[in-house]
Amino acid sequence: MNLFDGYGRKVSYLRISLTDRCNLQCFYCRKDNLIFYKKEEILTIEEIKFLISVFRDNFGISKVRFTGGEPLLRRGIEILIKGLSNSNLSLNITTNGILLKEFAHLLSENNIGVNVSLDTLVPEKFKKISGSSDLKRVIEGIDTALQVGVKLKINTVPLRGINDDEIFDLIDFASSRGVVIRFIEFMPFVNELIWKKYYVPEDELKSIIVQKYRLYEIDQDGSTARYYELENGAKIGFISTVSKPFCHSCSRVRITSDGNLVLCMFDKFSYPLKQFLRPKIRENQLIEYISTVVKLKPKGYVELKERKSGFAMIKLGG
Ligand code: SAM
Repeated sequence: MNLFDGYGRKVSYLRISLTDRCNLQCFYCRKDNLIFYKKEEILTIEEIKFLISVFRDNFGISKVRFTGGEPLLRRGIEILIKGLSNSNLSLNITTNGILLKEFAHLLSENNIGVNVSLDTLVPEKFKKISGSSDLKRVIEGIDTALQVGVKLKINTVPLRGINDDEIFDLIDFASSRGVVIRFIEFMPFVNELIWKKYYVPEDELKSIIVQKYRLYEIDQDGSTARYYELENGAKIGFISTVSKPFCHSCSRVRITSDGNLVLCMFDKFSYPLKQFLRPKIRENQLIEYISTVVKLKPKGYVELKERKSGFAMIKLGG
């Protein structure tokens, strides 16, 4: 059985936040006064595996992405990944790369696609964005992962006045490693003044890039990104949720690390799944619940943006 929302969109992609903790403190990802989930509130590794099998076996989900917080911080991630190695799913992770060097072999051996978030190549700017001095570790993580054969992409959030003068350096960094870089528009999950100050729309970024290179649109991979090849062979993508929303083709649902189903990242509503897992598993009721609530998936970002999400990115996973 496939899973369709109330607008007829097929849901085939599940994003699961493994933890709301992070080893970076990116200013654009957090909200003030965050309260982190307690250990007993978050889904266990067994519960995560069970939910994935429910979505795969009953709803035909074919792709899963682990996110966070920082998913590589999650205790038991090795057991989770190894336990899913024969799951017949496309398995992926989004990481800030701080621990990538340590996990590179595990990810490569289990065929996990990796998106690394990298906003700058300048240590001082990395510190300004994330509060960390560990940029070198991220770059070493990327290089180690590539050496051991990890399928990797780089995701960058362009931020006005911070990294918008580094666009060509970032493109060169990625293309010299044979890696695609995708520019993700800064989304208004934080204080509106901060968002307005730093937001760079796709068209503005493109207008900078075309001063140096022609952009040739290339075959799309069915994802939310639109891809281009530059004259020098570099491949870049844009994920422009704000200026060019792709809600009409959205196939995603998310599960927070404490087990709430979130149907759209801008929605303030969520649907508790843990009630069907604890104190004991009630699989039939869980399946019925998911089939019912998925019909409530909002039509899209444009309708929702006035509502303001109840979630910080760090809680929901990008
Ligand atoms: N810690 C992991 C990481 O850094 O990739 C996974 C979680 S993080 C929330 C996932 C992605 O969301 C990162 O690429 C981050 O840059 C992005 N992100 C966070 N807040 C964002 C925002 N307001 N707008 C756009 N992207 C955002």
